[in-house]
Amino acid sequence: MTFRRYLSLRNENLPEKFIVLRHDVDKRPGNSLKTAEMESAKGISATYFFRMRECSYDEGIVARIRDLGHEIGYHYEDLVLAGGDKDKAIRHFAESLDVMRKVAPVETICMHGSPLSGIDSKALWESYDYKDYGIAGDTFYDADYKSLFYITDTGRMWDGHLVSRRDNVPEQKEWIAKGYSYHSTSDVIAALDNGSFPHKAMMTTHPQRWTDNALAWFKELVMQSAKNIVKRAMNKGR
Ligand SMILES: [Zn+2]
Repeated sequence: MTFRRYLSLRNENLPEKFIVLRHDVDKRPGNSLKTAEMESAKGISATYFFRMRECSYDEGIVARIRDLGHEIGYHYEDLVLAGGDKDKAIRHFAESLDVMRKVAPVETICMHGSPLSGIDSKALWESYDYKDYGIAGDTFYDADYKSLFYITDTGRMWDGHLVSRRDNVPEQKEWIAKGYSYHSTSDVIAALDNGSFPHKAMMTTHPQRWTDNALAWFKELVMQSAKNIVKRAMNKGR
């Protein structure tokens, strides 16, 4: 289900088993369109979070993904773009929503991690409330991770929270203790097949990382392995 649907059902009747399927469109929106088409062909609806940057926001693609029955959300990084100026950031936040809402009803948000920036864009909510801007929920604040297992392809693996600076939630340690830890996609598929995968989960993917082209796949492997080394070193420095 989409994140919006999760928020609607959250206090009433969530099904016994579900996955909140989420895609962060950091770049290469064309990859997201392909993902959206494949899901739609299988009757699956997901939430696509777009950044308000040229590398992500392509109005034509946003409209097509909307038409395929998916939810469009805002992948915000306004405080980083405003260099830490909160008043400037909230204006950019509101303007971005205005632009996106010409194409789709945007009611959910999710922060773009900007791993190399010292600024955490979530700090904007210490001074402002996104609910004043017609936002029903933020994936970080409004999902109940006590009952929702979180899994992301950050770092080009399914246990990348071990190297991620910002794409993580506090409950992860408890899940690992329960044995809910998967590294490769085959691990995830095996757990789904044998029924041991958590029944309630949020899954995040970055479609720009996924390809069926061997050369592009290998390039992603090499680049991400190098990035993970840097991220690990930065985490040690914290
Ligand atoms: Zn992102």
